[in-house]
Amino acid sequence: MSIDPHAEIKILRKQLQSLMDEARLNEKKWRRLDQFEKQLIGTRTLPELIQVILDDYKTACETDAITLVLCDPEHEIRRILERSQAGGAEMPGLVLLEKLDADDARRYPYLGPFDAELPRAIFDPWPADCRSMILLPLMRQGEPIGSLNMASSRAERFTADSSTDFIERLANIFSICLENSLNHERLKLVGLTDPLTGIFNRRYLETRCQEEAENVRRHHTPLSCMFLDIDRFKRINDSHGHGTGDRVLCHVTGLIKAQLRSNDVLSRYGGEEFVVLLPHTGLRHACEIAERIRRTVDAQPCRIDADNELKVTISIGVAQVTDQQEGDDRTLAQRLLAAADEALYLAKESGRNKVVSDDNRPVSVTAKRSLIKLLGFNSA
Ligand code: GH3
Ligand code: MG
Ligand code: MG
Repeated sequence: MSIDPHAEIKILRKQLQSLMDEARLNEKKWRRLDQFEKQLIGTRTLPELIQVILDDYKTACETDAITLVLCDPEHEIRRILERSQAGGAEMPGLVLLEKLDADDARRYPYLGPFDAELPRAIFDPWPADCRSMILLPLMRQGEPIGSLNMASSRAERFTADSSTDFIERLANIFSICLENSLNHERLKLVGLTDPLTGIFNRRYLETRCQEEAENVRRHHTPLSCMFLDIDRFKRINDSHGHGTGDRVLCHVTGLIKAQLRSNDVLSRYGGEEFVVLLPHTGLRHACEIAERIRRTVDAQPCRIDADNELKVTISIGVAQVTDQQEGDDRTLAQRLLAAADEALYLAKESGRNKVVSDDNRPVSVTAKRSLIKLLGFNSA
């Protein structure tokens, strides 16, 4: 049977046309993906990276719902987000889980009909009227770290026979960017924390104090500050050694931390001195917290070995700044720290193991200090 060469050419032309259409479509997809990859790689912070995925990628993919599930067992991502953005860790579409369930920890993509039986955590908020979906695992070093999930009201948007090359490549790039940005945040944190106690250091405190002073004006709420200093700490070092001194520092850190709220900022200012910033807190309330800390430290000695405990006390100076005070943010922050330091000095001078603030300045010590200043002697 002879084949009509014209008909054959027609068929071949049609096939060629459809291949060219597909190639053009793929080229368009690659270009879009390439642009999006550059955008992901160009992000500088973790919130920015997550935002690009949840906002820009949603628009680029023309999908109705998108969520990003990330495993965050140590609450590290949550803390980074809380520190770096005003809205805290809440980002629409971001789901942080302490542990991935079997459904969240899938290793292969799922594309197909929308499954209303899914665990609610995968889509939060839950999308209405969705007909198809894709659940794309995010992997690092062979282990699932979360998933990128999209749902569409169009049944044909995500089907089992759709190609996943583009989107899997994107998931890989996102996972690498996520790890990079977490490492970057960890590195930043190393420069801002104290290696012995694990709390913030003076450098962080001073920057943060200025930011909080700015909030005083913006939100019209007071900011309080405590300066805390372990009493007669040198004696502890001299009698029991530096190692025991270090143990006491960690013991006191733990006791202070236990009395604070999550948005209070605790730092080791130097040696055996700590500073706490208490945002949205007036002087009276700050003094109550300080008194609670002082009493707790007084009541709970530090265990230094199997048979021995060491009694420790601390002195605390408290001050506040309000939106009524004049000066720029830097001046307000400096004035707040200086006032709390001055109150601490008075607590030491009036016998130690005390809380002193503007509300309860020990009269005799204040008078003595004024006299020293008046006569021009160095009070140190
Ligand atoms: P006061 O009640 O007036 O505060 O007396 P103090 O002995 O606590 O204060 P002083 O400033 O005389 O001594 C502080 C000591 O803290 C001196 C220093 O060697 C010690 N110190 C500073 N940093 C560390 C540290 O990281 N570990 C240990 N073990 N000791 C430290
Ligand atoms: Mg001391
Ligand atoms: Mg000191």
